Amino acid sequence: MEASRLKEISTSMIRRMFEVVEKAKKEGKDIISLTIGEPDFPTPKEVIDPACKAMNEGFTHYTSNFGIEELRVAIAEHYGVSKNEVMVTTGGSEALINASLAFIEEQSRVVIPSPSFLSYFTYAKMCKAKISEIKTHETAFTPTPESFAEIMDKDVSVVFLNYPNNPTGAVIDKRSAEEIVKIARDYGAIVISDEIYDKIYYDKKPANLVDHENVVVVNGFSKSLAMTGWRIGFVIAREELLNSMLKVHQVNGVCAPAFAQKAVAEVMLNGEFEKLVSKMVSEFRKRRDFVYNELSKLYWTVKPEGAFYMFLDVKEDCMKFSEKLIDYGVAVTPGKAFGSWNDNFVRISYANSLENLKKAVERIKRYHEDQGA
Ligand code: PLP
Repeated sequence: MEASRLKEISTSMIRRMFEVVEKAKKEGKDIISLTIGEPDFPTPKEVIDPACKAMNEGFTHYTSNFGIEELRVAIAEHYGVSKNEVMVTTGGSEALINASLAFIEEQSRVVIPSPSFLSYFTYAKMCKAKISEIKTHETAFTPTPESFAEIMDKDVSVVFLNYPNNPTGAVIDKRSAEEIVKIARDYGAIVISDEIYDKIYYDKKPANLVDHENVVVVNGFSKSLAMTGWRIGFVIAREELLNSMLKVHQVNGVCAPAFAQKAVAEVMLNGEFEKLVSKMVSEFRKRRDFVYNELSKLYWTVKPEGAFYMFLDVKEDCMKFSEKLIDYGVAVTPGKAFGSWNDNFVRISYANSLENLKKAVERIKRYHEDQGA
């Protein structure tokens, strides 16, 4: 029998949208998917080549739980921390669940700004915690220190922050983020700052909250190097916090793939990392500008400042909208997946070619016209 910790966790909505899209495809419909949560670019050759070399050289076994020395050093130098504050994980997701199991107390409260990445809700439920959401729709999809202070008390064990944000692309300003961290610290709460999109930004540079005693920074290379299938993530936190997470990591991810760690270390240490990221970001910027300019004429949204998502107020039930839009040849993600107050929102991902985005925008415009809006 399924354990009670999974009682409130559902996969039905994701499954339903998946089934709707699959059915339409089987019927031969031409569907452009704006649901993709990863860069559409191939993993760069600059990563693949050293990975193949490392595999041939025998980097195919366990590594230290903390990750290989070169990669820890490369990450530490990049973020200006000590290598002893870095732990490599099997993707950002493993880092998130390690941190959740390490710091979310049963029956405590977990603060999650809405809209947010679905997984945070799942981790909180798995840990049998109570979820308290902060509505951010009126403040450009970022929580203010004031709204945060209002919701805080000593029952809160963990606060999730994620900027640049999935699903909105919002970036919080550094001062507000630091103020939130300070308030959390005063209540003895840990902030899990998911910075997996920190390299994908267009306007203001996202803050890296690496230098705070109560913050666990979660990051990884899935998005920045278009390598979601390689499973390389990392956490940066004080050693004491890393040691708590090690208790989970040693029986969970154990270690990230050895050859993949080697390849990422090489790309970071030889200076290619920044170049590869900036090439990808300049493409994303063109797409962001295009979809924002076109779709913001039809639906209310906030201009995304990072990641590759935009969150639109479609002013009707998001499930109905998403299902009807399939008939026009476009798949989007219903906003319901991202927390409360999002029933009339949908997420679009512009991790797709400009050519496909142009077609998708035309189809959305046609849908919008047909609604007589
Ligand atoms: N955090 C956020 C906000 C994400 O959007 C994702 C993936 O979509 C992840 C974490 C997970 O990243 P990874 O593939 O490295 O596990």
